[in-house]
Amino acid sequence: MFEALPAEGVPSDQILAELRGLRVADLPTHGGRLFAYVYDPALDGLDDLARAAHAISAHVNGLDPTAFPSLLAMENALVGAAARLLGGDEHTVGSITSGGTESLILAVKAARDSRPGLATPRLVIPSTAHAAFTKAAHYLRVALDVVPVGDDLRADPGAMAAAISPDTVLVAASAPSYAHGVVDPIAGIAAAAAERGVRFHVDACFGGWVLPYLRRLGADLPPFDFAVPGVTSISVDLHKYAYAPKGVSILLHRDEALRLPQYFAYAGWPGYTMINPVISSTRSGGPIAAAVATLRHIGDAGYLELAARTREAVSVLAEAVRTTEGVRLFAPPETSVVCLASEGVDLFVLADELAARGWHTQPQMAYEKMPATIHLTVTASVAATAAEFGPDLVAAVAAAQASGPADIPAQLLEAAAVLTPEMVTPELIGGLADGLGLGAGDFTRMAAVNSLLNVAPPALREALLTGFLSLLQRPAPPLPGNPPAEPPPASGSPFFGHPLHGQRSATTPPAAAE
Ligand SMILES: *Cc1c(COP(=O)(O)O)cnc(C)c1O
Repeated sequence: MFEALPAEGVPSDQILAELRGLRVADLPTHGGRLFAYVYDPALDGLDDLARAAHAISAHVNGLDPTAFPSLLAMENALVGAAARLLGGDEHTVGSITSGGTESLILAVKAARDSRPGLATPRLVIPSTAHAAFTKAAHYLRVALDVVPVGDDLRADPGAMAAAISPDTVLVAASAPSYAHGVVDPIAGIAAAAAERGVRFHVDACFGGWVLPYLRRLGADLPPFDFAVPGVTSISVDLHKYAYAPKGVSILLHRDEALRLPQYFAYAGWPGYTMINPVISSTRSGGPIAAAVATLRHIGDAGYLELAARTREAVSVLAEAVRTTEGVRLFAPPETSVVCLASEGVDLFVLADELAARGWHTQPQMAYEKMPATIHLTVTASVAATAAEFGPDLVAAVAAAQASGPADIPAQLLEAAAVLTPEMVTPELIGGLADGLGLGAGDFTRMAAVNSLLNVAPPALREALLTGFLSLLQRPAPPLPGNPPAEPPPASGSPFFGHPLHGQRSATTPPAAAE
């Protein structure tokens, strides 16, 4: 490891070599074998272009578009392109945000602040809506009405309509849902919301840049965009199927009046008057320039071709699941997600066996009536590798069958059965991590951990994973040869005396820093 603040500066070449060295431990972002987190079009030269564009605008500050008109021009160009792709017209406006979560928080904020008199504003979502809506409700103190989905995993328009109350400021649904990749019945929900005069947000963070192209290719998908009356806002992440580097999403509103309460303005302090359309105030132009470069380089025809490759990959993967004994499709593979469940095979062991064969998938825990599933986000890069998936899936299922469910130490299972979120302490997390073999920072065999989390009630799962992330996120100790930091104050500070800081307990494994 390296020292972030060395006593003397380090030459550029060495630093870049160190950073490249660090990246070796990461999952592969290219190669068509990673089915979550990254979106890869497998286009030669695109990374270099995006990097160069990012560098040009990295130090430009989005705080004030009058100071940096380049950024305003790029943002307006991106919003215009998104509006046209998603059925907007000359009234459509939008904002550039840092990601899908920020877009959704702002959609909820705009809706909440459009009804300032309400004591308890409410948000209606289907149970498959992205967790970021819950985060938005939590941050913004908006009450959440979660409506169960039907057996087809889609929002139920009748149940959604019935959940709308006089205090509902926003109804939302997905096109498609992240977990299963199915499109909610947008038109029916939009009609119900419009009838009550309530805003309706379509979360197309995931699918907004691929569904229009899949539809052009003939996929049987319902309209989901501003062409549907009653849709008042749409979010689309450019760092997903627009294949831009991380840090860019767009929140579109049908008209300017709908957007206005999204802004935060404040003149009541001695500094500059702050007018923020989004959550961040200072923000880099880098991701925005990289997104512009990516869109312009791929172009509309390029996105159509990438969607065709994605569609082909989805059909190859789905066929592999259909024809492999021990797994089944859990959701119809109608967009760019393949979601599978297992039968007679431990799903989490199967995920490990796939990983051992170079396929990095995303296990999803059981939820209400839904079993645990494996999620595959399919991107254009997978077209080149999809044919190799079937044989590896068969082999992985056989291996998972042979090895049986993950071994969980008996005393861990017993402890977990009586555990409540309040009992989760840093010491307990350290002991659990050691017991499950996570202390050394090796996350390749996760079946035992996932099985344990899968049977934990959601609140306990949240507490355990929060504790574990907090365990990982420890300041790196100084390395030999570097002067130690200033000694902490002897007492009186509520921070330095806390066991999470400074000294480690004996049960705590070394953080991933070493
Ligand atoms: C990814 C995603 C989000 C959240 O986006 P981030 O960019 O991860 O913040 C929200 N909704 C859906 C449907 C998504 O797929």
